[in-house]
Amino acid sequence: MELPRYPAPRLVRYAKYRGNNPREVVLLKGLPCVWSRCSFCDYIDDNTRDTAEIRRVADDELAKVTGEFGRLQVINSGSIQELPIDVQSRIRELLARRGIRDFWTESYWAYRKDYEATRRFFGVETHLFLGVETFDDALRNDVLNKSMHWKSPDEVAQATDSICLLIGFRGQTRDIIRRDIDLLLGKFRYGIVNLFTENRLSDGLLDRDIQAWFREEYAWLEQQPNVDVLWNNTDFGVG
Ligand code: SF4
Repeated sequence: MELPRYPAPRLVRYAKYRGNNPREVVLLKGLPCVWSRCSFCDYIDDNTRDTAEIRRVADDELAKVTGEFGRLQVINSGSIQELPIDVQSRIRELLARRGIRDFWTESYWAYRKDYEATRRFFGVETHLFLGVETFDDALRNDVLNKSMHWKSPDEVAQATDSICLLIGFRGQTRDIIRRDIDLLLGKFRYGIVNLFTENRLSDGLLDRDIQAWFREEYAWLEQQPNVDVLWNNTDFGVG
């Protein structure tokens, strides 16, 4: 059955994030996510096969980047590898031209064999955020349908230094969240912790009680210099 779709909102695609690790943030349009089947993910509604549209958005938004923080985050509702190669090259040129030394972007586990080449491609320190969501294997794969399998969190830490976690979905317990945060702080350089926000897929998946507990128990987390806590999914200023 087709799920009802909300009318496409006009998204904000460029922002200056002044929280931990201040940076410019750009939300581009990308080709469809290679997996596109995570149970909670409505970001992919922004994906398109229209490469002219992808290039038009990239032209408009990348032109706004000044390099003032020396750090840039590019999001494309999927993986960086899902931007056409000429758009990736434009980002690389922009990093060099604006003197940006720190580049943050996202990449799905299926691309892990390419991670090293992707980091080399951009020519500056590049952090590939992997949407782990949780290290509880059953929750990640059976509830969230991430299709991401590994032997242990160490295998993830060997592949990348930056991850995203998701808080507030069905089946998450306090102990599972505590373990996830401990692993983030113990094994990774950067983390983005997203509180699951109501969307067209969240019916039956959203757990407000565990979120309420997290908000109190982990209020201190946003003081951690290497962690961004997104209490709302638009806290970066884009979306
Ligand atoms: S891999 Fe990422 S972009 Fe693709 S469906 Fe899952 S959460 Fe969404």
